Amino acid sequence: MTDSRQAELIALGERVLLRNYGRSPVVLTHGEGTRVYDADGKAYVDFVGGIAVDVLGHGHPALVRAVQAQAASLIHVSNLYWIEPQIRLADLLVRHSFADRAFFCNSGAEANEAAIKLARRFAYTAGRPERCHVVSAVGGFHGRTLGALAATGQPKYHEGFGPLPEGFRHVPFGDVSALEAAVDDRVCAVLLEPIQAEGGVHVPPDGYLSAARRLCDERGALLIFDEIQTGMGRTGRLWAHEHWGVAPDVMTLAKGLAGGVPIGAMLVTERVAGALGPGSHGTTFGGNPLATAAGVAVLRTLLDEGVVERAAAVGRHFLEALRGLAARRPRAVRDVRGKGLLIGLELAEGLAAADIVKRAMADGFLVASAGPQVVRFVPPLVIAQEDVDRLVAALDRYLGDRA
Ligand code: PLP
Repeated sequence: MTDSRQAELIALGERVLLRNYGRSPVVLTHGEGTRVYDADGKAYVDFVGGIAVDVLGHGHPALVRAVQAQAASLIHVSNLYWIEPQIRLADLLVRHSFADRAFFCNSGAEANEAAIKLARRFAYTAGRPERCHVVSAVGGFHGRTLGALAATGQPKYHEGFGPLPEGFRHVPFGDVSALEAAVDDRVCAVLLEPIQAEGGVHVPPDGYLSAARRLCDERGALLIFDEIQTGMGRTGRLWAHEHWGVAPDVMTLAKGLAGGVPIGAMLVTERVAGALGPGSHGTTFGGNPLATAAGVAVLRTLLDEGVVERAAAVGRHFLEALRGLAARRPRAVRDVRGKGLLIGLELAEGLAAADIVKRAMADGFLVASAGPQVVRFVPPLVIAQEDVDRLVAALDRYLGDRA
């Protein structure tokens, strides 16, 4: 490492920040469209997008204008009062989803906490307090706060944090009989990602989500979809559950909702909304003017400028190109999975996603991993097809050594 400004900053960060992240040795200082730049001026094509957050890329004029204008007029008040952009964002969300009402918070984990609390309270207010169990899937990811962590079906994230809250069961993802066996009369909710993202990009078999819907209806449990990573057009539809025509009772959102300004949301139907009445739940920053003004700008741009349809088309091209690569490199690639611009490339035994991440970075591409063996691509939804082709050609080179 040279004695550049970047190296100095990293040395300072090593001294003063908690060491809870494994970080690549760059400081990203600015971005434009689908490019980001480090403190030494090197450019990268961004296939990470802040981990599925920067849906409009960097510095999108509509988002920048909205944030600047809102910052100049009102950054924060309180939910003691009505907030115009919060009302406008809720209105847009309910008009473009199954839901009737929205609650806003600040992150994905918080949105899932709200959903878990709502499901328990819904059963409680129906006179069934024993229905407090939540069923979620092995390999799922729902966040790091204690409730969301208990719902997360990956023991590696639980280690050393016990005791976790009680009342959480995990079943294999995609297995209808396991779900049937788990959803008994003590279960208030089934919580699923329509496509498991962080756990390795797993698309469920057709019929799985509709079976979950039917089971929840038969047995009186709520169906909660965690669309924190899959929502906001990521999979080529505004909401991933639209691919299977299955609507939940509750949906959680965060990540791309405000294009990078921190926000979370829980959308609910009227039938269940009453479970959280005045004073039952809340958060200081939730739905604040700055974050929700950003959300309005993002959602309007997605809807008005055909961004989701474009993402679907580029995503199809990307998947096909990676499948071509897998066919050429069968000893290096085990599988290619995903929908829209949520794509995972599973490497063969003996190859590590971390090595691909490193080589790509040296060549000016940011890509992420999803577990040790899967390279994950979640670029801004405005990524150009030519950039996809350049990345796939580079991946072909990296994997060529194994062919
Ligand atoms: N749920 C899903 C599906 C996620 O992918 C994530 C984050 O990766 C979360 C929840 C947690 O969101 P946050 O990191 O904003 O708390």
